[in-house]
Amino acid sequence: MSESKKLRESLMLDRKDGYEKLSGAELAELEAYCERYKAFLNTSRTERECVEQAIAMAERKGFHEYVPGERLTSGDKVYYNNRGKAIMLAVIGEEKLDKGIVIGAAHIDSPRLDLKPYPVVENTGLCTLKTHYYGGIRKYQWVAIPLELAGVVVKKDGTAVKVSVGRDPGDPVLTIPDLLPHLGDKQSHKPLFQGIEGEQLNLLAGSKPYPDDDGSDRVKLAVLSILNDKYGITEADLISAELCAVPAFDAKDVGLDRSMIGAYGQDDRVCAYASLEALLEVQPKRTAICMLADKEEIGSMGVSGMQSHAFDTFVQQLCDSQGVSLKDCFAHSFCLSADVTAAYDPNFAEVFDKNNSAFINQGVGLCKYTGSRGKSGSSDAAAELVAKVRRTLDDAGVIWQMAELGKVDEGGGGTVALLMANRNIDTLDAGTPVLAMHAPFEVTSKLDCYMTYRAMKAVFEEK
Ligand code: MN
Ligand code: MN
Repeated sequence: MSESKKLRESLMLDRKDGYEKLSGAELAELEAYCERYKAFLNTSRTERECVEQAIAMAERKGFHEYVPGERLTSGDKVYYNNRGKAIMLAVIGEEKLDKGIVIGAAHIDSPRLDLKPYPVVENTGLCTLKTHYYGGIRKYQWVAIPLELAGVVVKKDGTAVKVSVGRDPGDPVLTIPDLLPHLGDKQSHKPLFQGIEGEQLNLLAGSKPYPDDDGSDRVKLAVLSILNDKYGITEADLISAELCAVPAFDAKDVGLDRSMIGAYGQDDRVCAYASLEALLEVQPKRTAICMLADKEEIGSMGVSGMQSHAFDTFVQQLCDSQGVSLKDCFAHSFCLSADVTAAYDPNFAEVFDKNNSAFINQGVGLCKYTGSRGKSGSSDAAAELVAKVRRTLDDAGVIWQMAELGKVDEGGGGTVALLMANRNIDTLDAGTPVLAMHAPFEVTSKLDCYMTYRAMKAVFEEK
């Protein structure tokens, strides 16, 4: 080897495509992992469904619901279900909690269209359901696609009824019709964000009037009667409900080579699933916790968001059982804030810094910082911490890359990282690169999904 070639290898970064670094065995494992991930997505389109699936998977692996005050010893596996909308799963480690815990924190809520409290409207013979969008959606992407209704209605007596219309292959779907191009001239000249307005996100729910009735709103009556037949609910019950419209299609392989996955809700279920599956298999030295949070897309507020004390309460209870202070535990803990990052898209090259972007098939993306306008609102991880994670991932053979979300001053984003760091927990952002993030059909690479899981596993199995 020539002097300069040796120098090149020792000094310069190697940013080869991940496929050049994968072994045959890893390739087979990658495919199997992605099949399991797609199956999870198909049954988990709301945060509540994610929690249900996580509990089912965990119980199959010997986890049980944590009972406050319960004595736990090394190897014990428990979960704490926060109101059916967020969940923490823990595997108790060999070491005491004053040595700290290792956390993989992801979120299981995704952008969607929530139904308003009085959603049902009839207008000129069409019945629609009014929505209030949840999270940062580009409204024009949610029209003219099949949508399903998912969620829960809680009746006045407390009975909860699970609603699902459009998931079953035999089900009808809902949709929001877009304007025809023939009459869309004025709309086409509006700025993109005004092309479809929030108050136009009304779901088409029916057109057939209730027979043998001479009152008004016969189509609405017919729709309410269908809901009543199927779920035993009335219009008043929709007041105490959490119903939303989400895309009515399954996860699909994308590309002629099937190298990518297209699906709704990959932000952030791709990291949630990775963290969950890794935790279910691990036998850690320090106690490992998989945190699946709700409400990240709207600021992590509320009882099920990452700002809630539910997390502290759970870890406090674990600490109490070992006579350890929570503050001591947090001060020695580490959290990988597992949330997606933007994948470089050559179609929109102008918003990315090519030298500091995450690329499809180059593995899980670590972000030292997120934020916007000069890193504002970011938890900027310490160099020492980044070095430690580099070492951990390299030692475990994980394919990873460093990433920023777009060019400086182009926009930005945040995760739950700062909320963990504010608790005095060393935290680093890491996640799968995504194309078309927040769209009804987001795209990830299978290699990157698998490497996100491998990264979570390496972190939980820290040396
Ligand atoms: Mn996210
Ligand atoms: Mn998001």
